[in-house]
This record gives sequence, structure tokens and C-alpha cells, in this order.
Amino acid sequence: GEPEILLAKCIGCLKCVKACPGGALEIFYSPEELEILAALDGQKDLAEEDADPEEKARRALVAQYRGIWVFVEQTDGEAARVSWELLGKGAELATKLGVELCAVVLGDRVEHLCQEAMYYGAHKVYLVDQPVLLHYRTYPYLDALCHLIEKYRPEVVLMGATGLGRDLAGAVATRVGTGLTADCTGLDIDENRNLMQTRPAFGGNIMATIMCDRFRPQMATVRAHVMTLPERRPIASGSIVHETLPINEALVFTKVLEVIRENRGNQVDIAGAEFIVSGGRGMMSKENFGILQELADELGGVVAASRSAVDAGWMPAERQVGQTGKTVRPKIYLACGISGAIQHLVGMQDSDLVIAINRDPQAPIFEVAGYGIVGDLFKVVPAITSYLRELKG
Ligand code: FAD
Repeated sequence: GEPEILLAKCIGCLKCVKACPGGALEIFYSPEELEILAALDGQKDLAEEDADPEEKARRALVAQYRGIWVFVEQTDGEAARVSWELLGKGAELATKLGVELCAVVLGDRVEHLCQEAMYYGAHKVYLVDQPVLLHYRTYPYLDALCHLIEKYRPEVVLMGATGLGRDLAGAVATRVGTGLTADCTGLDIDENRNLMQTRPAFGGNIMATIMCDRFRPQMATVRAHVMTLPERRPIASGSIVHETLPINEALVFTKVLEVIRENRGNQVDIAGAEFIVSGGRGMMSKENFGILQELADELGGVVAASRSAVDAGWMPAERQVGQTGKTVRPKIYLACGISGAIQHLVGMQDSDLVIAINRDPQAPIFEVAGYGIVGDLFKVVPAITSYLRELKG
């Protein structure tokens, strides 16, 4: 039924407003009430600090941490694209906070990446360039990053949610004693300078905004293609801070004996594709994905799938889009026979244009679609393909 607000019990804490997953609640105050609330708030803060010296010390410590850091992930001296995407987001956060945007480069003979980080917006780059950091191993990288964090005290550290980033971020957060939010889909700053880290929670049924207001740095990982790649600036300017660690090969117990590259054969990279034709349970069978492949071929794109289609064995797992699959942001995402569950939407809703074909006009996929076609995909998809062929003559 109708939600009921017990006015006698409401203390105006606004928790309900923040908690409502639909963003349906708002609280209004008159200008007089706002004045009284501000006065009360001031008194409360002073009283709290006086009463709790520990709290006061904690706040003072938190205030010593300044700046946004982005960890630049590299393999063989080549940076992961997600690091530059994070510099784009980092720049936005740094502007809101009025602080520097810094990059962290760890490796062996990787100084060229400092320049590259500046092209993507870093004002300052912390560099640890030592042979022991040639191949990624948790311990030397952990030592290096923790050393920098303890010495320079950033308020935010962002990393790509890659295999390496997930490993390193967890280890660093544990050692420096702070929180970590994995796989964020949104990052922002609140009125108290805290990082608002948004990610799907409870199986994707709600978007939770997670805060780490008592500890520093605030750490978050973000998957590739979630944030927009910023433009590479024509000039690189900024400073490099060189640091050397008192660590050498003899102190590291894990040894890299050989690097064997995975043979990706003819695997398709849906995350980098500009045109994606994606199929869901509505495709009915593996063979029917042939009509999506034909359309993808005409567009110069690739075929992807929802989890239902992957679970049914119609498409391989690396083609899955969504929360437990890949995040994509192509120019066009054509969703065929996909209902648009939230776990699917989080993986594709930032595409430049979504076109949805579904026979159910109520399907939630239409809510994120620029163009929606209500109809039978087995008629609509071949019709689009033959139209494109006609256009090409
Ligand atoms: P359905 O929801 O069954 O939709 C099929 C659609 O096809 C319907 O809308 C129907 O109207 C339409 N249709 C049927 N026949 C036709 C036709 N002939 N012409 C046109 N339209 C037709 N899902 C993902 O996709 N990716 C994820 O990463 C992911 N991660 C998850 C993680 C968790 C923790 C959980 C709990 C779930 C996850 N899911 C994920 C599953 C998700 O909740 C949905 O179950 C799934 O996305 C549904 O897939 P679908 O849209 O293909 O199938």
C-alpha cells in the first residue's frame, strides 16, 4: 500500500532519502527551518568534537590526505587503457576537490609512461623504476605503492578492475588499513569531500553508494570501458617524483620463470568493438545467432550475448555483456530478444546509441534505448540486414 511517514517520529536525518533505490523521496524545509538546522548542526559538531578527542584526532588525520591518484597499470611497458580512462574521471574529481591529479607508475624502464600520463591529464607522476618491478608480483608492487601512499598521503586511489588491479588493490587496502570498493560504475564527491563510490549490490537489484569517510585513502577499482577515455592532450606538462625502494630481487620470494602469452586465437574482443549486435534468450537457439552474425558482418561489428544466452550454451562466456560479463560502450548496441535486466544494463547502458528489438513493449530494455522496435526479431533483424545490403548495392 501507500508508504506512511510517521511525522511524530521523523527526525529529518534524510537516511530514507539516501536509501530509497528509486530516488522517490525528497524532504523540503522552509528558509527559517534551514537556518535553525544549520545552527543546530554547528553546535552538534562542536559538541561531538569536544566530547570525543579520538574523533577530533581522526578528523585531523583524514584532513592530511590530499590529491587524487590513478595507478597506471602496465605490461611490458604498455599501459592498460583503463588507466587513462581513470585519469579522465580523476580529473573531474580533482577539479571538484581543488586538488592535484597524480599518476603512479611502477615498473622497469617505464619512464615513458609518465609523459603519457601527463598527456592524459596527470599534473604529477610518482615513479618507481627498478628491475625488481619488471614483472608484476604482488609483494614488490605492494611495497612500492604502500611506500608512496604512506609518504605522500593521497585522499583517493583509483585502479583498473583488471586481474592485476584486483590483486594489488585488495593487498594495499589491507596493509594501509582502509576500505576498498570494487567494480564501481560511478564516482563522485559529496559535500564533505568524501568519495561516493557507486556499484551494483544485492545481485544488481539496487545501486549502492559506498563511502569510506573514516579512513584514507579512499580506494576504488573500476572496470575497463566504464569511464570515458579522455582526449589525449597535445602537450604533456607536469612533474615527475622519482622514488627508489630499498628492495631487491633477493627479498622477493616469488620468481617469474617464464611468461607464456595466452593464445587468444580467433577470440573476439567485444569490449573494444564499435558495433555490437547482441542476442538474448529471445534468440531461442545457438543456430539462430547466425542472423545476428550476418547483421554484424554488414556493420563491421561483433556478436555479443546476455547471460541467459551464454548459460544456455549459445554463445561463449567471453561474449557476455553485463555485471558478471564485460562492460561495453560501442557506438551502436543492438539488443535483440534481451529483456534488459539491471545486471545486463550496467554492462551496456553507456553505449552511444542503444537500439532494442523486443516483442514485449513493456521490456525494460526500451528504457535505455534511443530507438525501440516492438516486433519479432526473426522478421526485423533479417529486414535490417537486407536493407543494409541494398544500400551497399
Ligand atoms: P529474458 O529476460 O528471458 O528476456 C528475453 C526477452 O526476449 C524478453 O524480453 C522477450 O520479450 C524477448 N523475446 C522473446 N522472443 C522474441 C522474439 N521472437 N522477438 C523479439 N523479442 C523476443 N545478465 C546478463 O545479461 N549479464 C550479466 O552479466 C548478468 N549478471 C548477473 C549477475 C547476477 C548476480 C544475477 C543475479 C543475474 C545476472 N544476470 C546477468 C542475469 C539477469 O538477471 C537476467 O536474467 C538476464 O540478463 C536475462 O537475459 P535475457 O534478457 O536474454 O532473457
